[in-house]
Amino acid sequence: MTWAVSFLDIASLKTLPGTFVYNHRTMRRTYPVILLMALVVAALAVRIPNPDPRMKNASRKPPQDGWTYVHLEGTPAEIGFQHGALLAREIRDGFEVQTLELMHDSHKPWTFYREAARDILWPHIPAEYREELQGIADGLKTEPGATLDIWDIVALNASMEWSYYIQKYDKEHGIKSPATLTAPDHCSAFVATGSYTKDGKFVIAHNNWTSYMDGQRWTIVFDITPVKGHHFVMDGYPGLIHSGDDFGMNDAGLVITETTITGFEGWDSKGIAEFVRARKAMQYAETIDDFSRIMQEGNNGGYANDWLVADTKTNEIASLELGLRNVELKRTKDGYFTGANFPINRKLLKEETTFNPAEPGLSSNARRVRWEQLMQENKGRIDSAMARHFLADHYDVLAKKNQPSERTLCGHVDLSVRGMGDWKAPYEPAGAVQNKVTDSAMASKMTFLAAAGHACGLSFKSAAHLNQYPQFGWQSPLLGDMNAHRWTRIHARP
Ligand SMILES: [Zn+2]
Repeated sequence: MTWAVSFLDIASLKTLPGTFVYNHRTMRRTYPVILLMALVVAALAVRIPNPDPRMKNASRKPPQDGWTYVHLEGTPAEIGFQHGALLAREIRDGFEVQTLELMHDSHKPWTFYREAARDILWPHIPAEYREELQGIADGLKTEPGATLDIWDIVALNASMEWSYYIQKYDKEHGIKSPATLTAPDHCSAFVATGSYTKDGKFVIAHNNWTSYMDGQRWTIVFDITPVKGHHFVMDGYPGLIHSGDDFGMNDAGLVITETTITGFEGWDSKGIAEFVRARKAMQYAETIDDFSRIMQEGNNGGYANDWLVADTKTNEIASLELGLRNVELKRTKDGYFTGANFPINRKLLKEETTFNPAEPGLSSNARRVRWEQLMQENKGRIDSAMARHFLADHYDVLAKKNQPSERTLCGHVDLSVRGMGDWKAPYEPAGAVQNKVTDSAMASKMTFLAAAGHACGLSFKSAAHLNQYPQFGWQSPLLGDMNAHRWTRIHARP
């Protein structure tokens, strides 16, 4: 914030030692003049928040119920620059978290990621997104002391897909991968339409599951108007050109979300990074067919997901289960698809995952059963208000009672004696971190409802938890409280 710095610098002159060493009479005469000058300069500076012409049309709003909204607009380089400049502090902070986690989980130094970003991912990134990534690195330089460069930014963008690459890399190099590198069970989501919803049009909802360290920072709203493609709005993490947890919509009327395929293994270094394909789909897809095509073009297997898509133009919904070797697109105008990280296609499950569908106690299997119950019990009544309740649901289908844990749609691994397989240890600070809901009417106006923190209203308190479970002390420098905020309505710029 250039203006803030200018104003403070000038206003604080009177307290700087050595500035006013003249006699009292001189001071009395000059002080009002200097004060007036300071006010004029400050007023001028307020009108010009950042004089860089690349910042034209970019804006950042004050925090809204835990969310930080930015509007980015222009060429790829301009969008990137605005992103880097408006969120410089958040990117630096979010980068610390991702590097800490990636290095902890993989036992590999950050140089490994930087080199792989340059040698493996960069050659397959189209010019448009290269320019935007470079723009972020350039925008970061507007903050004093900035040290991140383009390879840090590319590596950061691939945070969710590195484990897929490293599993293959380790196998090829005779290294035993740490168990924590498993493709994790992130997120709960559903999309319903036709006879399942109150108005016959679609309703779609998603909560992001990740570590609370990530999750408390996964609260950026990116409202982006690029020179090419569609205006779109999505939730996201600082420094990413894609949503990452993937919830967003564009002005062609397409709404997109996903949940990860647990235990997936597969990677193609000749493919296009998932983060590029996901971003491209958000920006360019106009139909379900477009979406399916863009996600499959150059599929590298990274961050393999069960994608859920809805189209405001037709109220048709779809599920794209995107493995590397097995891909299945299902679509309907009357029905629902749910996501809780369970592989659906039996061939994909067998050939590309280590997932056990027969173990009812697994988080994914338990949540799958719960989604089925909710869809059947509420057929014909589902709307956005009900979707918000679903995301706050604590019903454990095994214990047959309300008890928040890794088995409930509103996930709380931090409250679970079992933890979550190889991904998260018992009581590890992880689970649902933020929530989004929209329906056909809201999405056609590029609007959604969002709740930062758990939708159920339970806040996570870092110091007390780490005191009780010191095994997670390695997170203490970056793990803060994750407070549950109320639901809020988010609009893209008209
Ligand atoms: Zn909860």
